[in-house]
Amino acid sequence: MAKKIRQLDPETIRKIAAGEVVERPASIVKELIENSLDAGATTISIAIKNGGIDYIEINDNGEGIDPADLPAALELHATSKLNKIEDLNQILTFGFRGEALATINAAASVEIISATATSPAQRYYQQQLEPAARNQGTTVIVRELFRTIPARRKFLKSAHTEELNIRNIIKQLALANPEISFSYQTDAKPVFDLKPDSLTARAVKLLSGFNQPELIELTTSLNGINLQGIITHPRAAQKRASQFCFVNRRPVRANIVVAAVKKAYGNKIPPELNPGFILNLNLEQTEIDVNVHPRKEEVKFSAEALIFKTVLQAVDQALSTKLRSEFETRFGKAVATSEPRSGVLPGSFTISEPKTSYGKAATNPIAKLAPTELAFKFSEQLSQTAVVKIDSNFSDNSKQYLQIFNTYLLIERQGKLLIIDQHAADERIKYEKFKQQHQQGVVDQTPLLLPIEISLTSSNQANWQILSRELSKLGFSLELKGTDQLKITQVPTLIISKLNFDQLLQSIYNELEAAKLDFSELASKFDRVIATLACHSSIRAGEELPPAKVGKLLADLWQCQNPYTCPHGRPIVNEITKAELEKKFLRIK
Ligand code: ADP
Ligand code: MG
Repeated sequence: MAKKIRQLDPETIRKIAAGEVVERPASIVKELIENSLDAGATTISIAIKNGGIDYIEINDNGEGIDPADLPAALELHATSKLNKIEDLNQILTFGFRGEALATINAAASVEIISATATSPAQRYYQQQLEPAARNQGTTVIVRELFRTIPARRKFLKSAHTEELNIRNIIKQLALANPEISFSYQTDAKPVFDLKPDSLTARAVKLLSGFNQPELIELTTSLNGINLQGIITHPRAAQKRASQFCFVNRRPVRANIVVAAVKKAYGNKIPPELNPGFILNLNLEQTEIDVNVHPRKEEVKFSAEALIFKTVLQAVDQALSTKLRSEFETRFGKAVATSEPRSGVLPGSFTISEPKTSYGKAATNPIAKLAPTELAFKFSEQLSQTAVVKIDSNFSDNSKQYLQIFNTYLLIERQGKLLIIDQHAADERIKYEKFKQQHQQGVVDQTPLLLPIEISLTSSNQANWQILSRELSKLGFSLELKGTDQLKITQVPTLIISKLNFDQLLQSIYNELEAAKLDFSELASKFDRVIATLACHSSIRAGEELPPAKVGKLLADLWQCQNPYTCPHGRPIVNEITKAELEKKFLRIK
């Protein structure tokens, strides 16, 4: 009956623990490079064989290890970075804390050759210390990983996969330390050889999705947090974008940072795409808890909300600044005029009503005409209605616009033909105005002379109640009567020109419901409500626009924070340069 309890010998325990921590060759490479960085190395070279399973060599020009300390460095819990336990919260190093070398040594065979400024090189291998030759610095060689732990060896992937993992780790560390030289070779073939660089230059070399004109550099100090890095332009967003997060230059997984960046891009990119980024946060050690993951990859912040807010703010600022300045270089600056009038583009165009009236009767008069007639009518149409003079106080020739397909506005600016989607433009304008009013807590609302009562086709009363409450923050006054009647007494002034409030409200409701949105979370999804309202209350495609409305639209668009994309991420403006046209007409090659 006696239970057989067998005490495992310390050596076995050590090997099991080593297998847990040293999961794969890449984790070894990471620890060893971090040791080199901790030792102040400026040049680090890495060579591996067979995916690191047979051989890993890391060579650095750091301060070196004193020969007397070499045996100790391979024993458990030996570290020069931790003298008192209180230091745990202060050290800036994220290693295994005095366990890495010993742990690796339990999982594989480790050889170290090291020289310091004062002591000549020594080799430590298989418990033997002997003189060797090398300059100041350290070489660590790891051979035959898991040879003595076959159970772990089984879990290794193919050499190819392990090599990719290693390559990724080196890339991460090379991005975190662009001023350090890194060279890397696998099975005697060089993979990269990086000299000291700016972060941007290094990113361009290492990451396929990072191309110079698409990169936005970012350095800020916000809320006591110092943040540097690069983000990619919204137009470079990809399904699988490269995203790197560092805390005090150590690669970490930090979902909160990923979420904050994504949120900052918001509707500047379609929801299924992701921005690329490389961000380093400099934090006090007291802000981070790095011990949550055995390999210290996932970082835990004690001030999560602050980190989220800070990253969001910093990225948002960098993006807005970039997009604005880019828009202005491409399409011209909006210069403030002394007297804003309606129908006046600030400082750029003045739209004057044409002498000839082209009211409602003109609605698509071309559609029913034969081709010959069409040609004739078209020129007539051009001179009478479609082309409208815009007085410009710019020296360029942006004097006219043309509305085509009742959907796009064509204007000339700075030697380019701009094609503007009228719906997307108005949507963006309304979206930003609603948002601004909502943020400032002042919404312009207009009471209806005659309140409108509408019958609701969908009668989920609780949801309508929530929606009514949220819409009241945007200027609506809605009153639910019974189960399926809604009384509208006030509407946002921004949409007063829209007449079908019943349709408008019903389609907002339907869209939110179709998106399977939980209405009880509507308040937190406020952007969504604003975007939907903006969409449904905007100028439609197919709507013919009077010049005054075009003038106002263009003027407002030039004032937008993000005049590039509508709240759903679709583009607002496309351009054709004069050169492109000239190429098409073979005027230039
Ligand atoms: P830790 O990095 O947490 O101190 P390690 O087991 O990784 O623990 O390293 C043990 C000690 O060996 C370090 O504290 C350091 O003094 C020394 N060491 C390891 N690698 C290097 C290196 N590349 N250059 C100089 N010293 C090193
Ligand atoms: Mg270490």
